[in-house]
Amino acid sequence: MADYDMVIAGAGIIGVSCALWARMRGLRVLLADPNPPGSGTSSGNACTLATYACLPVNDPSVLRSLPSLMLSGDSPLGVSYAHALKNPRWMLAFLANCRAAPSARIAGHLAALMEQADDGIDPLIEAAGAQDLVEARGQLNIWSTAAGAAAAEAGLQRRRALGVAWREVSPREAQAMEPGLKLPIQRAVHFHQARHLRNPQALIARMHQRFSDLGGSSVTAPVEAVQAGQDRVTVTVDGQRLSADHAVIAAGAYSGRIPGAGTADLPLGTERGYHLMFQGEAHRVTRPVGWAEGGFYAVPHADGLRLAGTVEIAGLDAPVNRQRLDYLARRGAEMLGPLPAPSSEWLGRRPTMPDSLPVLGRSARSPRLLYAFGHQHVGLTLGGLTGRLIADLAQGRDPGLDLAPFAASRRYA
Ligand SMILES: Cc1cc2nc3c(=O)[nH]c(=O)nc-3n(C[C@H](O)[C@H](O)[C@H](O)COP(=O)(O)OP(=O)(O)OC[C@H]3O[C@@H](n4cnc5c(N)ncnc54)[C@H](O)[C@@H]3O)c2cc1C
Repeated sequence: MADYDMVIAGAGIIGVSCALWARMRGLRVLLADPNPPGSGTSSGNACTLATYACLPVNDPSVLRSLPSLMLSGDSPLGVSYAHALKNPRWMLAFLANCRAAPSARIAGHLAALMEQADDGIDPLIEAAGAQDLVEARGQLNIWSTAAGAAAAEAGLQRRRALGVAWREVSPREAQAMEPGLKLPIQRAVHFHQARHLRNPQALIARMHQRFSDLGGSSVTAPVEAVQAGQDRVTVTVDGQRLSADHAVIAAGAYSGRIPGAGTADLPLGTERGYHLMFQGEAHRVTRPVGWAEGGFYAVPHADGLRLAGTVEIAGLDAPVNRQRLDYLARRGAEMLGPLPAPSSEWLGRRPTMPDSLPVLGRSARSPRLLYAFGHQHVGLTLGGLTGRLIADLAQGRDPGLDLAPFAASRRYA
């Protein structure tokens, strides 16, 4: 039976970051995924190393505006009622966490991760020789209504109290920073410490290449089962049984579907999001611009303009919802003026626990099972740190961060 220090299920930003950190530390690692590295949710996102994003979607304002968000045909939130009725556990726990006290507690835990996020990803960017893929122009957030601008104040102050730096920008300055914006700007804020990637999948491909160059092993096949014993974990990949010191479950929104991983009963849900690409239109913005009322971002990707975002609660296996794509096209034109037909479209599945915190750490089932999933809206940002934490745990090092809030066995509401 082939023998490894670590076998990783999933080669998204999380799995590849775990693989590269562990291999740089000298561990013998096998990375398994049926799909190419970084081709899942990690490929199509809004490209931002969003260290400012410590406020969870679980916010008291969601409870106040839920009826209008759900009933409006022109909303950044879409909910399949059939899915919600079949999966009340996730939905109810998610809503319970929108109350002020849990929301504030979650923000504190996310802020603790964000503080270390750059230190997690930067060594990987350097190791992969991918500095050319990183742009440091910050992120601009804009509000187009007076009500939205006023309502943003509490959240901005909460971020500041949690150590996030931002700068108020006048509408005129925002327009000068991003002349392509066609909205009436009521308020604008520049998160100047945020960075973005010109192409997230290219970064992950280079990280994976570096992992291979360092002697890491990969297989294009799913992890079919894991079985944790006292001394080793047996991992079945493509019908073959492998032995490892540790198995890492980093299969994003699919992490609950690996038999024996102890994840099936965890309340892992998915917040689906969409993007549209417009080849040749990247010049429309010079940095990621988030339009708060629209619920999406305009991003200058290496392959063109990307409009990415929105949230749809409909489950992992539901087909693409064309209304969500039409919403992005329509509101994208409102934001940036007329756009050509999109060159491609995409549906991604954010892995989301009902408290918007990732699951990081050892399984209660066995200390040889390490969990690294549930990174919801900020997996690209937290991937590098997650990889470092998982390598620490595998080596028996102190991760230097209290992982209790991220334990799989925590209370979710
Ligand atoms: C529209 C949108 C915009 C976003 N914008 C941002 C942003 O700007 N900044 C940010 O930080 N985050 C953003 N995110 C969130 C971020 O993309 C995700 O949190 C992140 O990609 C999750 O990474 P992952 O590695 O966990 O999952 P994935 O990238 O989905 O990777 C999981 C992998 O597991 C594999 N897999 C599944 N089953 C198995 C199995 N049995 N065995 C082996 N492998 C398996 C899959 O093939 C897949 O490759 C956004 C998400 C969306 C949808």
